[in-house]
Amino acid sequence: MATEQPAVTRSTFDDVIVPIFAPANFIPVKGKGSRVWDQQGNEYVDFAGGIAVTALGHCHPALVEALKAQGETLWHTSNVFTNEPALKLGQKLIASTFAERVLFMNSGTEANETAFKLARFYASTRHSPYKTKIIAFHNAFHGRSLFTVSVGGQPKYSDGFGPKPADIVHVPFNDLHAVKAVMDDHTCAVVVEPIQGEGGVMAATPEFLKGLRELCDEYKALLVFDEVQCGMGRAGKLFAYMHYNVTPDILTSAKAIGGGFPISAMLTTEEIASAFHVGSHGSTYGGNPLACAVAGAAFDIINTPEVLDGVMAKRELFVKHLNQINEQYAVFSDIRGMGLLIGAELSAAYKGRARDVLNAAAANGLMILNAGPDVVRLAPSLVIDYKDIEDGMVRFDDAIKAVVKGL
Ligand SMILES: *Cc1c(COP(=O)(O)O)cnc(C)c1O
Repeated sequence: MATEQPAVTRSTFDDVIVPIFAPANFIPVKGKGSRVWDQQGNEYVDFAGGIAVTALGHCHPALVEALKAQGETLWHTSNVFTNEPALKLGQKLIASTFAERVLFMNSGTEANETAFKLARFYASTRHSPYKTKIIAFHNAFHGRSLFTVSVGGQPKYSDGFGPKPADIVHVPFNDLHAVKAVMDDHTCAVVVEPIQGEGGVMAATPEFLKGLRELCDEYKALLVFDEVQCGMGRAGKLFAYMHYNVTPDILTSAKAIGGGFPISAMLTTEEIASAFHVGSHGSTYGGNPLACAVAGAAFDIINTPEVLDGVMAKRELFVKHLNQINEQYAVFSDIRGMGLLIGAELSAAYKGRARDVLNAAAANGLMILNAGPDVVRLAPSLVIDYKDIEDGMVRFDDAIKAVVKGL
């Protein structure tokens, strides 16, 4: 099929965009469900989900409808006024979680920035101005603002930007003794991803999260769960904390909550929320009607037994295929994660080659992710069709074969 030469190509990127990303060599132009097409009309199966964002696939009819309807009604008011979609979405989140208050922002970074500021503000106004220490974990990822990148546990993301916010301590993930060693009365918060995403798809152990809860109670510190990546159905329950039966004091959600429309939320209790007062924090766009209308439609679909139970069933199929591929090629040393957040760690012979696997997948019509240099990550739509899983896994097999054969 002859196609017209597109006006912009991948090389335009290098001429136009600040060079912080290394995008794939093709440019997606259209998506439907778990299929995507590029400028040349090549078709891809999407196991990446926009990094755990497009939880209902591309252009889900209910989200398109919500976007269109709200787009013809009211786009933006600022927080000088409230709006109906935000209030309705807030009610839904409160009805389905531990939360009694919510605050909407625009990205995972902003939700976490809000959470960390609230934890510090709460501790310093209710307890002591010296209660400012934040305990966080190696390899954690919480966003890219200077505060969130400093709470994150990957120096390669936080170094080089001048003085960092102080009084943040990092210890190894899943190591309760290490937390105990640094926990004290000056600790205002422990911040943790129940399943580390960027850090390599590592789930917390139940004992670890239970232990953190007990330590936080003992030292009057807040337990903050960053569920930006692992929440909103990704782990097979609405939020991952529900698997662990450990309730946080503050929870952040983003990525899947808008199904692809930028929005995030911070959830907390009435008591903790009451530390903030008018003017303590703010956002021009946070909780705007367009984002909240789309997120409300996504929430109604995700928070159903059909979708959440489907996540568990689909995970089984993914893992079955990954094990079969591994039996053939011995490329993985571990297959892990929860629900449809799946990590496959490359075995010793393929260490550091996750990017090569991504490129081979793209060449075979498959979109996947990595989580660091050693882990291949899958975060597909929660409602991906079984046919898409089967087709995608055939392509994944071809991609792995190409890497193994050094093609
Ligand atoms: C992606 C991510 C963030 C940052 O979200 P942005 O929307 O990119 O700002 C924060 N925490 C976790 C766990 C994430 O996976």
